[in-house]
Amino acid sequence: MPTPSRAPAACLIGWPAAHSRSPLIHHYWLRTLGISGGYSIEAVPPEEFAGFIAELPRRGFVGANVTIPHKEHALQLAEPDARANAVGAANTLWFEDGRLLATNTDVEGFLANLDACAPGWDRTNEALVLGAGGAARAVVFGLKERGIARVHIANRTIARAEALARQFGAGTVPLAWERIDAVLPQAGLLVNTTSLGMHGQPPLALDVARLQPHAVVNDLVYVPLDTPLLAAARARGLKTADGLGMLLHQAVRGFELWFGRRPQVTDELRALVEADLTQN
Ligand code: NAP
Repeated sequence: MPTPSRAPAACLIGWPAAHSRSPLIHHYWLRTLGISGGYSIEAVPPEEFAGFIAELPRRGFVGANVTIPHKEHALQLAEPDARANAVGAANTLWFEDGRLLATNTDVEGFLANLDACAPGWDRTNEALVLGAGGAARAVVFGLKERGIARVHIANRTIARAEALARQFGAGTVPLAWERIDAVLPQAGLLVNTTSLGMHGQPPLALDVARLQPHAVVNDLVYVPLDTPLLAAARARGLKTADGLGMLLHQAVRGFELWFGRRPQVTDELRALVEADLTQN
């Protein structure tokens, strides 16, 4: 167990200890920035989570990532910011003046990835978001934060799209799954937050030819890296942003909060994580 006198360390708390790319990403940044620090995976069952969080400093941790099944519980144990509250889940914890704070870095990961892949993407007035689960909440919050005037939320289960639209209020519109085709020509940005197109899931059947020529297509799915949706959008000459980019960019803020330096998402890091994804 690390002690406070040692190099600062962060960890990923989950149950069971799932395979995660986070250690690979944070170790790469620690190594390339020459920072002496650590990042470990901690398997903590739900009944021990609150106790583990209370003991973070004693265990030598300056903060943590939180994953399934603790993301909602973490909101109650730390002081969440607006992003974590809106998403209803925290994935990053850190200390400030002895207080434990919480955010959800999926919002920043989503926005920063689009900024990197398709600068100017936010000049559009309308976006179409497919899905209404946890990832969709982060995406819709990010789009509202960036001032997108109208966000259509299409979901197989329309009640979940309606609930999300109620939560985010003016400018968010629920859309029946069967009505996607009608909205595609208006959308300057299309974001897939469903699991459709993921390995083992059905493909996302959608006609990208209906999008405007300057539309941007973002798929959050990153297994496979190049989804049929992204391939079709590229073939049509549209700008695209992939799920791996979001995964890498969402890790930036945690590292900065824990270790005091803002790291870069480099091609070298991307290649490292790509190789890991294709091996597993
Ligand atoms: P979730 O809360 O379980 O939501 C899943 C969504 O997919 C729901 O809207 C669900 O619709 C929809 N869906 C599932 N199967 C469908 C089908 N056969 N037809 C139509 N819609 C279907 O999951 P999540 O946490 O939001 O994650 C969603 C995806 O985003 C996953 O692929 C995940 O890996 C990815 N993700 C990526 C990143 C990243 O950093 N790149 C971050 C977070 C999530 P219903 O409501 O009708 O069930």
